[in-house]
Amino acid sequence: MDKEIFVDASLRPRFLKDYIGQDKVKQQIKLFIEASKRKGELLDHVLISGPPGLGKTTLAQIIANELGKNIIFTSGPVLEKKGDLAGILSSLEEGDILFIDEIHRLNSSIEEALYPAIEEFRLDIIIGKGSSSRTVSISLPKFTLIGATTRAGMLTSPLLSRFGIVLNMDYYDEDSLKQIIKRSAVIMGIEISDDAAYEIAKRSRGTPRNANRLLKRVHDYAVIHSNGIVDRDTAVNALTFLGIDEDGLDEKDRSYLDVLVNRFGCRPVGLSTISSALSESRNTVEELIEPYLLRKGYIQKTHKGRIPTEKAIKKFEK
Ligand code: ADP
Repeated sequence: MDKEIFVDASLRPRFLKDYIGQDKVKQQIKLFIEASKRKGELLDHVLISGPPGLGKTTLAQIIANELGKNIIFTSGPVLEKKGDLAGILSSLEEGDILFIDEIHRLNSSIEEALYPAIEEFRLDIIIGKGSSSRTVSISLPKFTLIGATTRAGMLTSPLLSRFGIVLNMDYYDEDSLKQIIKRSAVIMGIEISDDAAYEIAKRSRGTPRNANRLLKRVHDYAVIHSNGIVDRDTAVNALTFLGIDEDGLDEKDRSYLDVLVNRFGCRPVGLSTISSALSESRNTVEELIEPYLLRKGYIQKTHKGRIPTEKAIKKFEK
């Protein structure tokens, strides 16, 4: 296993007590896990929703660890044919957890095949074609489905209604991110001061994945410039070197705002136009760039398109 992957795996907290922030979600899932243990019943199916990099996969693994169960990982786009789903479902053992990432991207035929599997632990397979075809039902071991989604709004209501537990994750506050950075620094053997961790936290866009990535890059900078020790000045210089301003905006955000303010003169602009102007996919623009700019008050979404706010115009007008 290469070192970077190994470090990333070890950065993931393994139990709820090490999972920083998201207090509401933690309290809820802790109670449901405990109740399922006391009742001797399987945990109901769980949907975890929230933006990318917030810790949905990590939380799914933690749920499995807390229950002492196996977890099998797959994702919506990977399950292309019914046979893919059948293969995974038939490999499950009693009590296993099946994790489907990006569950909003399941195609409709797979989604329909999933309904009897999660409701009655039954898989219906159609054998043959045309008028001679028949359906054979295979019974499955009981399992818990954990679905993760960055777009809960895109889930069909029949699928949504089959999740007994819905956990909504939100962006992390700076204090939680600071703690995550300090924890990761200890695991990676990085010497970092409190105020340096805070500077990185402020620019992490509320997301642990960004916080860990910035920590690694800031550490690289410190290795070259300050014997590997990350103090506040080193952190600030490193973040400036990385092109991240004090508001957490990076190169992509700045190009986005430049397009809105200068190229289109603050007129409303549609998503497709912005994505082609930036050479980024619509998905990247909608999931990774815009949520932060909205949250920081740089843009507004109107029915005619995206427009920059006064704050953006002041900062970016040329
Ligand atoms: P998602 O599935 O939502 O995209 P991940 O579970 O892959 O996010 O988390 C991204 C990274 O952030 C993980 O490698 C993990 O180390 C870290 N992380 C996420 N949530 C937490 C947390 N609450 N405490 C500590 N680290 C976290």
